[in-house]
Amino acid sequence: MSKIDLKGRVAIVTGGAQGIGKSIALALADVGADVLLADVQEEALEKTAAELTAKGVKATTSLTDVSKSSDAEAMAKKAMEELGGLDILVNNAGITRDNLFLRMSEQEWDLVMNVNLKGAFNCCKAALKGLLKSEHGRIVNISSIIGLMGNAGQANYSASKAGLLGLTKSVAKEVGKRQITVNAIAPGFIKTAMTDALPEKIVEEYKKLIPLNDLGLPEDVADLVVFLASDMARYISGQVIQVDGGMLT
Ligand code: NAP
Repeated sequence: MSKIDLKGRVAIVTGGAQGIGKSIALALADVGADVLLADVQEEALEKTAAELTAKGVKATTSLTDVSKSSDAEAMAKKAMEELGGLDILVNNAGITRDNLFLRMSEQEWDLVMNVNLKGAFNCCKAALKGLLKSEHGRIVNISSIIGLMGNAGQANYSASKAGLLGLTKSVAKEVGKRQITVNAIAPGFIKTAMTDALPEKIVEEYKKLIPLNDLGLPEDVADLVVFLASDMARYISGQVIQVDGGMLT
C-alpha cells in the first residue's frame, strides 16, 4: 500500500465510530485522508475522532442517523465546510434485526431497510454535490456476503444488502462520466464485538466453511476501502468485491 497517498482528500465514513467503520476511518487517516465520522453513538464518535487527530489528520464528527435525509444533508455540509471538500464516501452504517421470516415484523423489516439501504441512498444523494466537484470522487458501499447468498433469519438484512449492490451498479453507471467510481465490498465473517460474543464451538464450525480457515479482521475490509478510494483503483467501478476468505466461492 506504500504507493497510496490520500493527503488532501476528505472522506466521510458512516457508522465510523466503532467496529469495521472505525478501522476504515483509521486506515484512511494512515494514508493521510481527513475524515468526518458519522454515527449515532455520540461518545464513541468523539473517542474515535481523537484517535484520528492523533495521527495528524483533520477529523470531525457528525451525529447522524443515516436513515434521515436531513441528517445526511447536514453531514455532507459539515464535511465540506469544516474539511474543505468531499472526495470519498464510505457507506458502512448497518444494523441487523434478525428473525425467522414468518415471525419478522414490519417494523423489523422497515428499520433494517431504512438504515442499510435508504441510508446509503440518503448519503449518496447528500454527498454527490461535493463528490462532483472532486477530481477523485469515490463511493464505497459496505454490503455483505449475506446479500449475495441469503441467510435463514436474515431476510431483511439480506434484502437490504442485495439492494445495496443494485444501488452501487446503477449509481456507478450514472456518475462514471464525472470520473466518480462506485463499488461495493461484501465482507464475510469478520471478527467484531458481535462475533466475539459467539461460543467458540460455533466459530470453529464457521471456520470449516472458510477456505482460509479463519475469520477476517476489520482491517482486511479497511485495506480494500483504502485501495478503492485511491488513484490506483481509478478504473474500477460498479464492482462487488468479496472479503470473505474464499467462503462464498
Ligand atoms: P457495528 O460494530 O455495529 O458498527 C456499526 C456502527 O453504525 C455502530 O456504531 C452503529 O451504532 C452505527 N449505526 C447504526 N445505525 C446507524 C444509523 N442509522 N446511522 C448512523 N450510524 C448507525 O457493525 P460492524 O460489525 O462494524 O459492521 C459494519 C458494516 O459492515 C455494516 O454495514 C455490516 O452490515 C457490515 N458487515 C459486517 C460483518 C461482520 O462480520 N461484522 C460482515 C458483513 C458485513 P449502534 O451500535 O447504535 O447500532
